[in-house]
Amino acid sequence: MGIVVALRDAGHTAYFAGGCVRDELLALEPADYDVATDARPDRIRSLFRRTTEVGASFGVVLVHDDGPVVEVATFRADGPYTDRRRPDTITFSDPVADAHRRDFTINALFLDPLDDTGEPRSPRGGAVLDHVGGLRDIDARLIRAVGDPATRLAEDHLRALRAVRFAARLGFTIHEGTADAIAAHARELVGVSRERIGEELRRMLAHPARAQAVALLSALGLDAPVLDTQPVEAPTPVLDSLPADATYPAALAAWAIDRGALSSPDHGRATLRLWRRALCLSNDERDRMWEILTGVHLVDEQWGSLGVAQQKRTAARPWFEDALCVLQARRPDRARALSREVQQLRSSPGGLAPTPLVTGDDLAELGLSPGPRFKVLLDAAYDAQLEGGVATRAEALELVRSLGV
Ligand code: ATP
Ligand code: MG
Repeated sequence: MGIVVALRDAGHTAYFAGGCVRDELLALEPADYDVATDARPDRIRSLFRRTTEVGASFGVVLVHDDGPVVEVATFRADGPYTDRRRPDTITFSDPVADAHRRDFTINALFLDPLDDTGEPRSPRGGAVLDHVGGLRDIDARLIRAVGDPATRLAEDHLRALRAVRFAARLGFTIHEGTADAIAAHARELVGVSRERIGEELRRMLAHPARAQAVALLSALGLDAPVLDTQPVEAPTPVLDSLPADATYPAALAAWAIDRGALSSPDHGRATLRLWRRALCLSNDERDRMWEILTGVHLVDEQWGSLGVAQQKRTAARPWFEDALCVLQARRPDRARALSREVQQLRSSPGGLAPTPLVTGDDLAELGLSPGPRFKVLLDAAYDAQLEGGVATRAEALELVRSLGV
């Protein structure tokens, strides 16, 4: 609010713009606030003490003066797109043109927080400026492209995924004409950078409405270009049953299982390779997804044949919660029984992962030099500890000695 007031006091027009207006009208907490103004980037920088340049050439300045960082952007019209990512040129312009460069009508609203003359639509008061029919679409719960959908998609095909993300997250419907254009041009998504596609998918799958997002992707024929693969006609029962707070790697693993990733280790590995590239997964995300896939298989098929020490070691692994969450979606009875068993292990003496009674230093003191034998002895001592066979350091050292240092 302070930033809008400061710009206005300096003689400029300034409004809240885009996603934050949409979210306020829907009584949701905006992730962040964007301000649109007729002040040019140089002028914005001169009016505030703490600013960062993100894209001055696109008319965007980050302002840190007023608590959380606010993106302050000069009203602009976008020129032609050739790299399908950013417009080649922009021209500074007025609020009407700025509304028309935005993707969907519900994302193209401005809020003048200082105008209290009309009927306030926002809980915080102020007047909404609607140049594209965004209020009508908010009321009708519709995602509709600003202008001709096919033209707007051709400028930036990522908008197809943004439509899906907003529809799923807000529980909105994609307007017929917009949905038709998305479906007709779905394959052209492959021209968009894999980073941007991956980032959109990350945001979709990390959100509780992930099942709706994936259903929409499939209905619009976007799943194949997103994953850079052939279309698969498959229901998604595991993904659909995930708990709301499932992590992104857990959601990826669930979706991969729905698409057959557990049918064989080769299929699992091939899926992982493909998705890593198609979605620009980080190494950590890829590793975690693989751990979950193999972990689900392990806890589902082999848990009963593991000894107590192995079970405790497994349940203490960083991926275990994610694997349990996916198992819960896949085989709820099995997951419930497993949770009970893990609970018992947790409440046994020492819990799942007690501090080892014997360390490498102890072995060195016993005259052993580091080598493969070291690890065998440490593992044996720790297994005995986890199984309750040894309870004190003295007992554990005795065991090591008896194994023949
Ligand atoms: P979120 O809550 O996910 O951040 P948002 O609507 O704020 O949603 P942003 O990606 O932060 O989305 O973008 C801010 C605004 O910029 C959007 O509301 C929209 O008006 C405009 N915008 C963003 N990306 C595009 C795009 N690819 N094409 C056209 N307009 C866009
Ligand atoms: Mg935003």
